[in-house]
Amino acid sequence: MISRLSDLIWPPRSLLSEEIVDRPGVIEAKLWGELRFLADPRCARCGFPLPEEIGATAVCGACAASAPVFDTVRAALAYDDHARRLVLDLKRGGRRDGLPVFAKWMAAAAEDALERADFIAPAPMHWTRLAVRSFNQAAWLAQALSRASGKPWKPGALARVKRRKSQAGLSASERRRNVGGAIKARGRHAGKIVLLVDDVFTTGATLEACARALRKAGAAEVHAVTLARVVRPTDITL
Ligand SMILES: [Zn+2]
Repeated sequence: MISRLSDLIWPPRSLLSEEIVDRPGVIEAKLWGELRFLADPRCARCGFPLPEEIGATAVCGACAASAPVFDTVRAALAYDDHARRLVLDLKRGGRRDGLPVFAKWMAAAAEDALERADFIAPAPMHWTRLAVRSFNQAAWLAQALSRASGKPWKPGALARVKRRKSQAGLSASERRRNVGGAIKARGRHAGKIVLLVDDVFTTGATLEACARALRKAGAAEVHAVTLARVVRPTDITL
C-alpha cells in the first residue's frame, strides 16, 4: 500500500530515461535492447573482449605479456552512453533502484568467481570523501551482489589510507601512481578467495591496488567484477 501510494505521487522511472515504468529498477524494452552486455569471446584473465572465439582459456596480448595481479576480471556492461548514465545516476545521484538488477548482471558476468569466492569486498573510499558523499557506490553494489548470491560481503576488508586526487582525466600510468600505496587490507585473509566489486573498470589501477593489498594479507585468489568496463583504452574520462 505504501509503495503504491508513493508510486502515484512519484511514479517509478526507467533507469535509462524519463519513461514511467511499472516498477522501480527496470528499463523499457527499446533501450534494454541497446545495452551492450559483455560476453564471450573474452580474455580468460582480464575479461577484455577478444575479436574471435579462440577457446575458453585464451588470454589477450596484455595478459600474455605480463600476468595481471587478478585471477579474473569481469564486467557486465561495456561503458557506453547508457552504462555511463547508470553509473553516474548511482555514484553522483545516489540512485539505488537499479541495484538489484545490477547485482543480477554482475552475478552472471562473474558467475565462476562468485561461486568460488569466500566473500565479496567493495573497493574502498577514503573516509573524508565518504563524509562528503555519504555513500560508497562500490559498497552498495557489493551489498546488492551479496543479497543476490547469498555470499557474505565484508565492507571493511579494505581501507583507503591516503586520500588521493580524483582519477578522472588521468592516464593509466598516472592512475597507477595516484592509487599506489593508498589501499590497505584490514586484517588477515589467509587462503581466502575474494571477489572485489567496483562500479567501473577503467584502467584497472584501483582494483589492482586492492588486489595487491589482499594478496599481501594472504588471499589465495583475487577476482574482480564491475558493473561496466571501458573497452576502448582511450575513453577513460569519467
Ligand atoms: Zn587479458
